[in-house]
Amino acid sequence: MPISETAIAADRPLLSTRHLRAYYRGLVALHGIDLDVGAGEIVAVVGANGAGKSTLLRAIAGQVARSGEIMFDGIALANLPAYRICRLGIALVPEGRRLFPRLSVEDNLRLGAYARRGPERFRPLELVFELFPRLQERLTQRAELLSGGEQQMLAIGRALMTSPRLLMLDEPSQGLMPRLVDDIFAAITQIRARGVTVLIVEQRLAEALAIADRAYVVQTGRIVLQGSAREIAENAEVRRAYLGM
Ligand code: ATP
Repeated sequence: MPISETAIAADRPLLSTRHLRAYYRGLVALHGIDLDVGAGEIVAVVGANGAGKSTLLRAIAGQVARSGEIMFDGIALANLPAYRICRLGIALVPEGRRLFPRLSVEDNLRLGAYARRGPERFRPLELVFELFPRLQERLTQRAELLSGGEQQMLAIGRALMTSPRLLMLDEPSQGLMPRLVDDIFAAITQIRARGVTVLIVEQRLAEALAIADRAYVVQTGRIVLQGSAREIAENAEVRRAYLGM
């Protein structure tokens, strides 16, 4: 998406957080995050280990204690439980995939649609198989027998079974070989091309910025920098701190 369109998309965000704070017992992990994700954008959140990237996604998804404002398409999320947030169209692909290892690929995917009703509930399978034909070939295999790349495809596929409007991905490249990382990132751009908005958290900064429209840099629970993906990629401090340049 050209930067001018990106700016327009960010003017009327699908998701926005204001003064978002998140808490673990005795610890404030996010110190007031203001973030916008425009409809149709890919937005990347980058930063070092422990910066609060996973916590940010979990706070939006309702999986961790939080305060402040979270708006999604005009609806306030900050007091809603996780299952209601999921039904509104936000899906989280968690760090480490969290698949059901003993269940088949097919059952993992169908479980993704468990909260949906009606004859259309398994319809997203078509999109999942189109994006990841390998999953269709391995439908009856147990998830634990898949390669790391296939497991990540399955975790993304399971999230797509909820027909999300916003897909949040927590370090989808974790533990994958470079070639597989490329496949996963290519799939993410295809998912966006289908109209799904994407918020991605990554430690692999260069790869994430290559597919993102805009990015936020997070440090110890605060946003320290934001801009177009190109601006962030070209920022001297970012290059020194995160890209070793
Ligand atoms: P990583 O890439 O290592 O996952 P991150 O940027 O995603 O890092 P978070 O996992 O969000 O960072 O962690 C932010 C802070 O919250 C860290 O100080 C971490 O130690 C702390 N934290 C994370 N999860 C918990 C938890 N379940 N209980 C207590 N503290 C936690």
